[in-house]
Amino acid sequence: MEPSATHYYQPLWTLVGAGEVDVAKTARRQSRVMPQGVHWIQDRVEHVEPADRTLTTQTGVVIGYDYLVMCPGIQLDWDEIPGMQSAVGHDGVSSNYGYDLAPKTWQFLSEFRGGTAVFTQPAGPIKCGGAPQKIAYLAADHIRRQGITGARVVFATPADSIFGVPEFAKALEEVIADYGIDVMYGHELREVRPESRQAVFSSGEGSTTIEYDFMHVVPPMSAPDFLKKSALAIPDDAKGWVSVDPGTLQSTDFPEVFALGDASGSPNGKTGAAVRKQAPVVVENLLAVIAGLEPTATYDGYTSCPLVTGYGKMLLAEFDYSMRPHPTIPLIDTTKPRTDMWFLKKYGLPFMYWNLMLRGFG
Ligand SMILES: Cc1cc2nc3c(=O)[nH]c(=O)nc-3n(C[C@H](O)[C@H](O)[C@H](O)COP(=O)(O)OP(=O)(O)OC[C@H]3O[C@@H](n4cnc5c(N)ncnc54)[C@H](O)[C@@H]3O)c2cc1C
Repeated sequence: MEPSATHYYQPLWTLVGAGEVDVAKTARRQSRVMPQGVHWIQDRVEHVEPADRTLTTQTGVVIGYDYLVMCPGIQLDWDEIPGMQSAVGHDGVSSNYGYDLAPKTWQFLSEFRGGTAVFTQPAGPIKCGGAPQKIAYLAADHIRRQGITGARVVFATPADSIFGVPEFAKALEEVIADYGIDVMYGHELREVRPESRQAVFSSGEGSTTIEYDFMHVVPPMSAPDFLKKSALAIPDDAKGWVSVDPGTLQSTDFPEVFALGDASGSPNGKTGAAVRKQAPVVVENLLAVIAGLEPTATYDGYTSCPLVTGYGKMLLAEFDYSMRPHPTIPLIDTTKPRTDMWFLKKYGLPFMYWNLMLRGFG
């Protein structure tokens, strides 16, 4: 079941926002990527009742299932921050977290002539936790290349470090120092006031207001509302992720249900790279359960974040549940910014996604 007529390759939206990729290249007709032999119901799940093994769709159809794989992605909660929804897309405020919005990032960035450029990161899990800082690095590089002097680049994050894995944090701190980016740790965006171009952040007990000339915002995120309200969700977790065993990805309460991708409650970084490793585990375990066996395939939490650090430069942060580096590319050191990794991001990974991953080849 898939409501959308279009399938998106979202990781390229970072490069769309940097003026490097045409946004049209990130979308394909869903019918082109739907595997042969699959009966596609073009409708949206509005309700899931795992005790009855039924789904109710937006058009009111009730569908029964024997087995269920949940992968509806993440919900962007724009309305949680007053002023964000109305501001984004206009007057210097953009976000790479949308097909229509990512081109606005490049429009506003290329119109930027100086002043303050602000980049925000919300609290809680989001898809591609590195994307809010990637566009800050690209913007800082663009500003430098344009010879714009006196500009202030601010990255505001509720976190207390730039990245959860110390080895990558160290490399990124060097990038930040090189660009002179003003990183404001412990700062969470609370309100956008587009009429006065002000961003209000909470910090500890107090608040800070910054006047921006350009701002890239990232909304808080959660599981789709229908999951939050369902018995599949992690109890007492307001975000509503599907409660799964982190290894087998089987629902903790309903053995005929599996979940993967951004909506899953497995504690990995939410990325397409994680989905690539999760999908074969789900397939193997689903087939085992159908055959009446115990699921034994396990996912180790692998995720990767291609951290673009400037035009033509990228480091690949690969790690797993241990929060330790988990490099998979032999011979070269991908933990430092490199040009070959940039080409992997711009050309290699999109090719792999459309031609291999969507066809079931890891
Ligand atoms: C700016 C940006 C940069 C990123 N960069 C990277 C990167 O560099 N590397 C990386 O690996 N990942 C990156 N990601 C993250 C990556 O795109 C996601 O983690 C990945 O797409 C998750 O896959 P998914 O299938 O869980 O969700 P999605 O790809 O979002 O797919 C969810 C699908 O479910 C459908 N759906 C939604 N609601 C319902 C419903 N109620 N019923 C039925 N179907 C529904 C949607 O139409 C959609 O087709 C980035 C994302 C963004 C936005």
